[in-house]
Amino acid sequence: MEEKIVLLLKFGELFLKGKNKHEFEKLLMMNIRRKLSGYAFSLEFTSGRMIVENYDESEEKILIEKLKTTFGLIAISRAVEIDGDFENIKKYVSSLEVSGSFRVSAKRADKRYPHTSIEIEKALGEVVLNSNAGAKVDLHTPKTILFVEVRFNGKCYVYYDNIKCAGGLPLGSGGRALLLLSGGIDSPVAGYMMAKRGLKIEAVHFHSYPYTSEQAKEKVVELARILTNYVDEIKLHIISFTKIQEQIHMNCDADYMITIMRRIMMRIAERLCLKNDLGAIITGESLGQVASQTMQSINVTNSVVSLPVFRPLIAFDKEDIMEIAKNIGTYDTSILPYEDCCTVFLPKYPVIKPTIKRAEHLEKFLNIDLLVNEAINNEEVLLIKQNEI
Ligand code: ATP
Ligand code: MG
Repeated sequence: MEEKIVLLLKFGELFLKGKNKHEFEKLLMMNIRRKLSGYAFSLEFTSGRMIVENYDESEEKILIEKLKTTFGLIAISRAVEIDGDFENIKKYVSSLEVSGSFRVSAKRADKRYPHTSIEIEKALGEVVLNSNAGAKVDLHTPKTILFVEVRFNGKCYVYYDNIKCAGGLPLGSGGRALLLLSGGIDSPVAGYMMAKRGLKIEAVHFHSYPYTSEQAKEKVVELARILTNYVDEIKLHIISFTKIQEQIHMNCDADYMITIMRRIMMRIAERLCLKNDLGAIITGESLGQVASQTMQSINVTNSVVSLPVFRPLIAFDKEDIMEIAKNIGTYDTSILPYEDCCTVFLPKYPVIKPTIKRAEHLEKFLNIDLLVNEAINNEEVLLIKQNEI
């Protein structure tokens, strides 16, 4: 009997219909191929599942790790592929060792298959009982679940486990956006979350050298590099904010300093979006976390841009954000003690409820167009790529 070990990939087909579904699947296949490039494997599509096969067994662990971070995949199962003939399936299942409680969970993707899922489950349950003295059926809390799937390609897949993947939508299916990436805990998480919803990411970081150090910048490069585990590569725009901060410090009221800084960051971000064909801005803001993230502050910073601003963490507690940061591997880098440009010239009492009117008034003392142009003209661009495992 021909048996072959494969990786059976499950994806979120339920959400998508018609033409979109086809595009989604094509993109996901492409993303998987790119993610696993450099390794030997082949990828097959059969309605509702993708199958990675013909790989080197010694590389299986690495392949699974890479697939776990491929957005759009829900779960991976290491499965045995056999011919889908029912007698053949029974014969294979009779060779399996099962002890203790179990149940069979069957799926018949091809409705032309001559047995229903329930018939398959009953028949294979019998087979397991007959060939394993210590086995007994428990439908509710079995020790072992034997999954059996008959697919359209005439093959049957038998497996025990589902390895959970990141989920979400295939990278690129939602377009491209610009992440405001600081050295903190929140913004890398925000970028991860929006990438998971299908957005390809570029990033911008504002630094205030020499007030902020070279290491502070390196830390952001490292954070971007960690994010590439999920998003392949990131174009990182590094913008010097030093002159802008000095100008604000000299010309504006201290309590509005952060408000105006953030308005200028947003303006620069929007310009970078237009220049690089990016459709939205992403920030790591969370409502009420600090003075610059009150509803009023967010309104005043938001009002200078017309592109959508995505704030996936808006309703998250810090603890929950920290947990995601730990899971995605950015936390340890984020907590390294380097300063951020937002802490330079930090006023003692930043305004908590700024108004657009007052911000606009104070900005009259600055030549904003000139400062924004200059900052963009002097940008440094780094293409951050994944480290080889
Ligand atoms: P983070 O942990 O992401 O730094 P934070 O809680 O420290 O967030 P702020 O410093 O107020 O909050 O920043 C809010 C958001 O503004 C950040 O999540 C990030 O998206 C953006 N931001 C702040 N500083 C910078 C910077 N130097 N460069 C780029 N984006 C920044
Ligand atoms: Mg910060």
